[in-house]
Amino acid sequence: VTAAVDAACIFCKIIKGEIPSFKLIETKYSYSFLDIQPTTEAHVLIIPKYHGAKLHNIPDEHLADILPVAKRLAIALDLNVESPEGVGYNLLQNNGRIAHQIVDHVHFHLIPKRDAETGLV
Ligand code: 5GP
Ligand code: ZN
Repeated sequence: VTAAVDAACIFCKIIKGEIPSFKLIETKYSYSFLDIQPTTEAHVLIIPKYHGAKLHNIPDEHLADILPVAKRLAIALDLNVESPEGVGYNLLQNNGRIAHQIVDHVHFHLIPKRDAETGLV
């Protein structure tokens, strides 16, 4: 499936480089970058290159790329360690205003949780 693009979408502009971002991992189907308003340090967004507002709009081959990237990022961010104080992370994805979605291009939040750092769950 060829990637759909919405010329007015800020995340499509980020993928094209028209809006700057701190890029982490780019694959054939996905792009990941730091959230501009991080909930915790190194809050990452992982997006399909295919433009769609909600999860059910995205073709399977684009979606299938996301979880392996999330796993690679978790390891790269040293979130794969066992720590007595506690190190972990949330992987979140919001669909629709009622579910707190603001940007209408599917995105997964990878939110590190380290030690006493607080943040929304
Ligand atoms: P949502 O509430 O839609 O799930 O989350 C949208 C996320 O996108 C927010 O965490 C917000 O900080 C982030 N965001 C919005 N605009 C930009 C931008 O231009 N650049 C980056 N890096 N993140 C953005
Ligand atoms: Zn888009």
